[in-house]
Amino acid sequence: MTEVVNAKCACKDCVCVFEVSKAVQKDNKYYCSDACADNHKNQSGCNHSCCDNCKG
Ligand SMILES: [Zn+2]
Ligand SMILES: [Zn+2]
Ligand SMILES: [Zn+2]
Repeated sequence: MTEVVNAKCACKDCVCVFEVSKAVQKDNKYYCSDACADNHKNQSGCNHSCCDNCKG
């Protein structure tokens, strides 16, 4: 039996929830994508359909 641990993206604008094992981890926080982990400095969104909020 595999325990699935879900986390919410640490990006404050992001509403994505994902499995921790698939997350992008940075500074002991979990992010849904590299774009969120980089604080959207490249003006790119996380590109998840669940999330309209983060577009950089
Ligand atoms: Zn998102
Ligand atoms: Zn995110
Ligand atoms: Zn984000």
